[in-house]
Amino acid sequence: MRRNAVITGSTSGIGLAIAEAMAGEGMNITLNGFGDRDNIEQLRGRIASDHGVQVIYSAADVSKPDQIKGMLSESEHAFGQVDVLVNNAGIQHVASIEEFPPEKWDAILAINLTAAFHTTRQVIGGMKQRGWGRMINIASAHALVGSPNKSAYIAAKHGLIGLTRTVALEAATSGVTANAICPGYVRTALVEQQIQELAKTEGITEEEAARDIVLEPQPIRRFVETEEVAALAVFLCSDTAAAVTGAALPVDGGWTAQ
Ligand code: NAD
Repeated sequence: MRRNAVITGSTSGIGLAIAEAMAGEGMNITLNGFGDRDNIEQLRGRIASDHGVQVIYSAADVSKPDQIKGMLSESEHAFGQVDVLVNNAGIQHVASIEEFPPEKWDAILAINLTAAFHTTRQVIGGMKQRGWGRMINIASAHALVGSPNKSAYIAAKHGLIGLTRTVALEAATSGVTANAICPGYVRTALVEQQIQELAKTEGITEEEAARDIVLEPQPIRRFVETEEVAALAVFLCSDTAAAVTGAALPVDGGWTAQ
């Protein structure tokens, strides 16, 4: 029987690469996230036809618990059950704590952390009952170490590791695993925005900002590829990964080895 995967924030970047890779493994996919509806519909159709799986799309805003409920109901209605849950949707805002807008703090905590509580609490019971399930939280190197000017993001991502560990322990004897993947810098829309802002404030080119500032903490001195993150997510869904649970797994080019 096909596994069914829900991937939040999968209309671009890391989430999209995970959706593609999981479809490549024969899973049915529930896509989620924002973007141009025609582009998303094209994406949905292409992933389905490339991999011969079913793909549905939910426009749920994961900062809204009732919309999360709707997305998971749609997915269960389409595919019967959720076997794999990837909490990936995320946003960033960069500012010192004294200038950090409280509404940005609330939005980042809601999307990057609280959403994973609402999704997990709804699907974990069914996974445990069926004796198989995978929860994968896309955290960050910033779930393991701090950096200036990213208080909300870093607090949320550290919190996501705590949630992952707790769910892993609660589910430990049930065939359900919960893990966090901690990527270093990946050149997605989320990072592109930071590169552009840095270039502007520092009066340098975007390529200089990327090379000299963004990649400075990443010893491999290149961006991590979305496919490199997705490959680990696919491994975590395999039966041979059944003993990997409660882990925070860096894919960070050596960042947190320092
Ligand atoms: P991205 O901006 O390309 O993707 C973010 C996705 O989340 C998009 O599909 C967007 O539509 C969706 N999204 C945003 N707000 C949402 C909401 N309220 N409801 C539903 N969907 C929403 O960025 P990305 O880099 O691919 O980020 C994906 C995850 O990876 C995030 O959790 C991010 O924190 C994490 N991450 C990224 C990097 C990096 O360097 N890019 C590093 C570590 C961790």
